Amino acid sequence: AGDAILRRQRIRESAARTYARSFPIVPVRAHGMTVEGADGRRYLDCLSGAGTLVLGHNHPVVLAAIRRTLDSGAPLHLLDLATAEKDDFTTALFESLPPAFADRARVHFCGPAGTDAVEAALKLMRTATGRRGALAFTGAYHGMTAGALAVTGSVTAAPPARGDVTRLPYPYPYRCPFGVGGRLGAELSATYTERLLDDPSGGVDAPAAMILEAVQGEGGVVPAPDDWLRAMRRITAERGIPLIVDEVQTGVGRTGAMWAVEHSGITPDAMVLSKAIGGSLPLAVVVYREEYDAWQPGAHTGTFRGNTLAMAAGAATLRYVAAHGLVARSAELGARMTARLAALRDRLPVVGDVRGRGLMMGVELVDPAGTPDACGALPADPALAVRVREACLRRGLIVELGGRHDTVLRLLPPLTITDEQAEAVLDRLADAVEAAAR
Ligand code: PMP
Repeated sequence: AGDAILRRQRIRESAARTYARSFPIVPVRAHGMTVEGADGRRYLDCLSGAGTLVLGHNHPVVLAAIRRTLDSGAPLHLLDLATAEKDDFTTALFESLPPAFADRARVHFCGPAGTDAVEAALKLMRTATGRRGALAFTGAYHGMTAGALAVTGSVTAAPPARGDVTRLPYPYPYRCPFGVGGRLGAELSATYTERLLDDPSGGVDAPAAMILEAVQGEGGVVPAPDDWLRAMRRITAERGIPLIVDEVQTGVGRTGAMWAVEHSGITPDAMVLSKAIGGSLPLAVVVYREEYDAWQPGAHTGTFRGNTLAMAAGAATLRYVAAHGLVARSAELGARMTARLAALRDRLPVVGDVRGRGLMMGVELVDPAGTPDACGALPADPALAVRVREACLRRGLIVELGGRHDTVLRLLPPLTITDEQAEAVLDRLADAVEAAAR
């Protein structure tokens, strides 16, 4: 049955289908970190629905919340009318946000995807400031609708029309934009940003917003230094530019803080949230400081703006993560796993760099025979990366690639991953890298 399904999908679905291409399996059941294929094989899932499943697949608490809502007779679809489920979700969400931000924040339910919340945030700031342009970063990923695409870095994904966007260099210590790594590279990025904005001939109109990820996900798991984030906050605040932080992938404990902004302590003007906040169902919101509540009634609408089941599943997820120490667990286990991955880098020349924050980890694969660049980074080896992903899958491990050249293995396990599962992931990964590099 599995083979027939795969065959039909290959014929009927768009050539652009992504994950189905990377993982030619037909999942029939899933629980926690484990996915079972139609062929009876079991896989440890480090993709977690592109970082969505912080509690893993079908967590009992999430299922119970969904069942309870279904059995209650609550309306499943009500546009954006007031419901008890929405009220409860909003309460759980605001309780989870950094108090300095949440105290004076408003939420707008977008829907249903992360990209919708990015659109809303950009549009809101354009309305609020009366300005047009946006500042975005190299390597950024914000979504696939027109406005979000304009602030996304990938040339493959973005059509020629990119809007009024000024792209700035994201501090990527391994493939450093200025040929200087580490702290100095990040400082140069901040200095460049500041000088460019203040240059009357820099070609940048007063922008409506800056949008950034505190840890780039699709861009290859690149954590920005806290000092750099604080510099961006200062630079935007001094110039009256609203700062939007996209926490679609980094949110809900993923990076070892409930929200990634907490590591640097910055307070953004808006946060874009999706993925984990819906407890595995589609949900997306933009939360922003009240002074930006600039839309007139009807200025931003849509049919599906937070469905009841997703709100119930999301509230249950947010509360479970907070109540069961999963944020600290993400920080602690993530540090241990990253240390083990660093040992792999020291042992295997095809591992160029290992990065991570909490349980958001990346392993950058390189061609050790190539010539190092100014920062010592070796050339990317996309063919090797595909072989490693395939070798992982053969060993029962689902790991997706990301990054500029699709050569970064991205590990996004659920925060509920056990020590034994973490060991198994690391063993299978090491074995797969060694086998593929041979
Ligand atoms: N922002 C970030 C940081 C993301 O990682 C993603 C999805 N990977 C998005 C926005 C877009 O979310 P969606 O795919 O739900 O539109």
